[in-house]
Amino acid sequence: MLIIRGRRCLVVGGGGVALRKVQGLVEEGAEVTVVAPVVVNHLEAMAERQAIRLERRAYVKGEAAGYALVFAATDDPAVNQMVFADAERAGGWANVADDPEAAAFHLPARVRRGPLQIAIGSAGEAPFVVHRLRRLFERRLGDEWGEWLESAARFRAAVRALGLPRPEREARYDRFFDATVDPGALTARVPSAEEEACWLEGCDDAEPDRAPDHRAPLRAAGTTTGLVSLVGAGPGCPGLLTVRALERLRRADVVVYDRLAAAALPCDLPPHVILHPVGKTAGNHPVPQEEINALLVRLAREGRRVVRLKGGDPYVFGRGGEEAEVLVSEGVPYEVVPGVTSGIAAPAWAGIPVTHRRESVRLTLLTAHEAIKGDGPQVRWDLLAQDAHATLVGYMGVTALPQVVERLLAAGMDAATPAALVEQGTTSAQRSVVSTLAGLPAAVCDAGLKPPALFVIGPTVAHAQRLDCVARRPLAGHRIVVPTSADGLALALEDAGADVVHVPLPTSPAARIVMDALPLTGCLVRSPAEVDWLDDERGGAGWSDAAISWCLGPEAAQRARRRGWRRVVELAEGVEGDELVARIADPSN
Ligand code: SAH
Repeated sequence: MLIIRGRRCLVVGGGGVALRKVQGLVEEGAEVTVVAPVVVNHLEAMAERQAIRLERRAYVKGEAAGYALVFAATDDPAVNQMVFADAERAGGWANVADDPEAAAFHLPARVRRGPLQIAIGSAGEAPFVVHRLRRLFERRLGDEWGEWLESAARFRAAVRALGLPRPEREARYDRFFDATVDPGALTARVPSAEEEACWLEGCDDAEPDRAPDHRAPLRAAGTTTGLVSLVGAGPGCPGLLTVRALERLRRADVVVYDRLAAAALPCDLPPHVILHPVGKTAGNHPVPQEEINALLVRLAREGRRVVRLKGGDPYVFGRGGEEAEVLVSEGVPYEVVPGVTSGIAAPAWAGIPVTHRRESVRLTLLTAHEAIKGDGPQVRWDLLAQDAHATLVGYMGVTALPQVVERLLAAGMDAATPAALVEQGTTSAQRSVVSTLAGLPAAVCDAGLKPPALFVIGPTVAHAQRLDCVARRPLAGHRIVVPTSADGLALALEDAGADVVHVPLPTSPAARIVMDALPLTGCLVRSPAEVDWLDDERGGAGWSDAAISWCLGPEAAQRARRRGWRRVVELAEGVEGDELVARIADPSN
């Protein structure tokens, strides 16, 4: 937490450890000099774009003097000691990698959410727990903490402006903290303007998020006012996000996203974009619809560009229409960016065209869950059952399937009508079964298919076998993390049907969300530095013990094994294209 912007810092050494220190320093705006006879490619590239000064030579005795911070990270203990002693003598602060004795300071691991920073250290006693704790907090602390801190800063300014005596000030801070932080769940929320006003006055029974919020916008008057874009993320395959959706995401201040939309987030989303989950995730209850509505209104009134990212198309069974209604009645500017709906895309991936000349000339999209309820608008099963040249697609179709089938059969539909169920269509986790109307419920049960899934009933389902172009590809079902620096290799994997997660290193918050959205088959790495970076990520929900690490070259493989990665597969350094695909598809891995 030193403010080292513009200060001269020295890193002696050019390997992966040095690189990490350099990255951290550059991020903080320090003026970094690296001294090393040989350096890794990443450092080379940083020097080329003048992010650092690179001196390709051995360390010269005495030169550590005159730097604010000095890091020694060579593999020669004698050189490290010399650097440390030089810095000490000159009154500078020095740190030797992996040597708690030679350290004027310890480098904490950091977890950041916007302006909030948590530093973790072990006084050099047990660095291994530091990484693990960082990972733990990285997973447990939601992105809302960044926004929460901003609201705390505003609240502090408002309290100070009142000029109260200290105990009264503290009482207001307590009120803010206790009402907004859930210490058990480690979650926080941004209070409404109403609540803040009430706490400032010293009363303590504010109703959370009730009255409309008229907080002054964050942006200066006359610049942009807020905008909510209701954006469809498509059915799960990241490539099925529209160009406009991508553009809106890149220019957003905040993204409020559903669980089904998480896999489609672009991994290289700029780090200032606040990512706000509202869907169901493991251990987290979904945010009630009213709260989502209030959140969208509040964020827009603060002058932010908000993307409300929903799975598929926002207006197809996603309550997008309700959100738009609220925005209109609250006078919030909004737009809709339609998406590829799963009801068309998932069948397509499974080889089922939803219409086909002479076979199916109508398409019905149905919410199966609603359709079987007795208290809502009723479905004309009689009409659907008589419509032999039509396709019926049922969303939320797993639990309701037996009742739907029963009703269609009772209304006279042919029991032999082709029918299928597609789970997680267009993603690497896609599974499907093809059967007949009468046989589908049992087939789904036998295959153990689970939501999210939809059923398709109609004559075109008969094409599924022939037209399923996905399952035939050698890497179908694979979901592989590939660092963006290896994008050239990724193309071959994608052509072979793999879902490639293009992860920038060091990783971004968006990339973490994407990696965790669906199970990963493994990762492809080319250097020890890439291994080190990914090592921090492997505790995430997307990773399992079954994940395979394909390492190009012995150095990467060695580092992966040293880090305790299981299932390390070493490949020749230059392997690419078909050969790479064949090695990854090899079932003996
Ligand atoms: N707005 C979304 C649908 C939201 S309702 C859209 O346009 O696709 C949620 C339901 O959509 C799920 O229960 C499931 O039936 C269906 N669904 C969403 N994504 C899916 C996918 N990738 N494969 C199969 N069904 C999916």
